[in-house]
Amino acid sequence: MTTESSKAPPLYPKTHLLAASGIAALLSLALLVFPSSDVEAKKTTLSLELESPAEQLTQEQDAADAVQATNEPATSPFAQIDNSAEDTQETAQAEPAPVPVVEEKKPASHREVIVTKGDTLSTLFEKVGLPATSVHDVLASDKQAKQFSQLKHGQKLEFELSPDGQLTNLHSKLNDLESISLTKNDKGYTFNRITAKPTVRSAYVHGVINSSLSQSAARAGLSHSLTMDMASVFGYDVDFAQDIRQGDEFDVIYEQKVVNGKAVGTGPILSARFTNRGKTYTAVRYTNKQGNSSYYTADGNSMRKAFIRTPVDFARISSKFSMGRKHPILNKIRAHKGVDYAAPRGTPIKAAGDGKVLLAGRRGGYGNTVILQHGNTYTTLYGHMQGFAKGVKTGGTVKQGQVIGYIGTTGLSTGPHLHYEFQVNGVHVDPLGQKVAMADPISKAERARFLAQSQPLMARMDQEKATQLASAKR
Ligand SMILES: [Zn+2]
Repeated sequence: MTTESSKAPPLYPKTHLLAASGIAALLSLALLVFPSSDVEAKKTTLSLELESPAEQLTQEQDAADAVQATNEPATSPFAQIDNSAEDTQETAQAEPAPVPVVEEKKPASHREVIVTKGDTLSTLFEKVGLPATSVHDVLASDKQAKQFSQLKHGQKLEFELSPDGQLTNLHSKLNDLESISLTKNDKGYTFNRITAKPTVRSAYVHGVINSSLSQSAARAGLSHSLTMDMASVFGYDVDFAQDIRQGDEFDVIYEQKVVNGKAVGTGPILSARFTNRGKTYTAVRYTNKQGNSSYYTADGNSMRKAFIRTPVDFARISSKFSMGRKHPILNKIRAHKGVDYAAPRGTPIKAAGDGKVLLAGRRGGYGNTVILQHGNTYTTLYGHMQGFAKGVKTGGTVKQGQVIGYIGTTGLSTGPHLHYEFQVNGVHVDPLGQKVAMADPISKAERARFLAQSQPLMARMDQEKATQLASAKR
């Protein structure tokens, strides 16, 4: 029971503390104000299977171009086909002739055209030697075939032609993930839209900050959204607006979505390390058996970023967080933007997380109050204290779990209790609610499974970094 903060915005964030997205948006503000100057960052590309379908494709393309070049003088598309047919026959004759075949099968041919200005499906058909009139037959054969007439500059169309010049297959890649095709059947053509399922691999990036996180991350090859995610993952520990220093470093392993050897998107950060002013923080993403994902420190003992769920041991919750309750002293309906813990006078109160002491002193109806700032996102407030613990002073720092003061009933209070508030970006949230992920440590039952995932990730970051530094020295 207590007084309430008057400056609380009446808004609740739906943000899950550990979910990157919501906080990322807010952090981006902080990142925007960073000074922009040059940044040194080194990119590592990792590993990863260097498939070369792209290369193969280029070669195929070259071959196709070459074929076209050979046939270039021919103006009639039919002439081209005749030529190639003749060539083929000569080749066939040169081979040791076996028993005469009744109807010799001629090889099919593959043609490719790139859409340029003014092209229509008809002009493209003509380019590969198909009669312009056949476009209509093709489009009419399947309702969805029209998708082939939505041509984009630079789009490639691949034609498979039968030896007698019939279109057997038309194929075009729309983007990295999608392609469309038409395949000849007995009656006409069958349309197909193929969506490639990207394979997921992990990628590593290492960066050194010269002055701004956003620039060094970009230089290192980390996308803006992953940079936001990283800032959010470490947002409990690092004040990205004020604490970033030249020489700070980060390592990130993240999911990368790949199609045909080309990165087409990214997934979540799997593990990360951030060294801020010589102090290194680690984070590992872990999905528990219930399917919930959160970030933990590498040792999984406890999530360093976690807040202690209850800042007073052996206390009874005497008043919960609510948007409207009758204030016991003011006798008015007012929101109670915190949780009250009733406990005997003198019971120790612990800091919910590592933080800076914004205030250790009197604050109106709150009486003796401690306000802690945790990173640049979170603040906690402890009211009605009897007194402050030794060494807890405005401007100082405290560790998670450190005793900061003792239960009392100073200020507007009816009995000994702690009034505890939790804010995310200046907005009060219910410390008992699911909106605030208190990130309990990895449970004993899942510890082995967690370590089996986190240890290889940490080892890989060590190894990748060492490899990179070694190659930089060369
Ligand atoms: Zn209260």
